[in-house]
Amino acid sequence: MEQLTERLSHIKMFVLDMDGTIYLGEHLFPFTKRFLSQVMRSGREYCFFTNNSSKNREAYLKKLSHMGIEISEDKMLLSNGVILEWLKENRPGESCYVVGTPSLLADFQNAGIPLDEENPDLVILGFDTTLTYEKLSKACAFIRSGRPVFGVNPDLNCPVENGFIPDCGSIAALVKASTGVSCEFFGKPSPHTLQYMLRKTGCHPEELAVVGDRLYTDIAVADGSQVTSILVMSGETTPELLTQSAIQPDLVVRDLDELANLLS
Ligand SMILES: [Mg+2]
Repeated sequence: MEQLTERLSHIKMFVLDMDGTIYLGEHLFPFTKRFLSQVMRSGREYCFFTNNSSKNREAYLKKLSHMGIEISEDKMLLSNGVILEWLKENRPGESCYVVGTPSLLADFQNAGIPLDEENPDLVILGFDTTLTYEKLSKACAFIRSGRPVFGVNPDLNCPVENGFIPDCGSIAALVKASTGVSCEFFGKPSPHTLQYMLRKTGCHPEELAVVGDRLYTDIAVADGSQVTSILVMSGETTPELLTQSAIQPDLVVRDLDELANLLS
């Protein structure tokens, strides 16, 4: 406990996951606002990070605003931003065939990355809720002809009101079954994402805490670093999953309500 208090005393910024952490679907948890004000009152800050590449920053700012949470643009981080910055730095000028929603395609265009449906340099797989068989076969043909493929986020499923829908990781699994090629993923838990979080927040690793409900993304992103990982049990992780997992958080709390108490 003393170790934990000592560790928390260094934290300046909480990077919060969204679904299962601050809300469930359309319902904000009753304690989320108290947690956010407790963070501010303790002299710390918070921002949000979501792996969901089917929506863009504007959509999330709007959703949060409807729930009564007003934040500045720079506090809303997405997997989309991680891959866009990486492409601009490491694959400058290369064109992409993007399997994604109109908002993901718009993010690429706004970042100045050329889109090409005929002769792209790279193939990008996103969480495409507008996926068609045509897009899949096109992507697979480009990959078979040697184009490198990257995935925006590795999540297999996305939680919705009544269960789950297949996410980017599942689309990539289908593409792999057809082509034999696996893609490198961005978003959480990619080390590119950890670097992105540190860059965007200006924090040193020991000043950052990532908070989320999913072990293989939210918690794994901090693995092997000085960043503190905090698991909330208000989402998809059950006590059984936690016991069996090789990925272990630095701290487990019931929910943000309990974390707020630790800050006061
Ligand atoms: Mg979550």
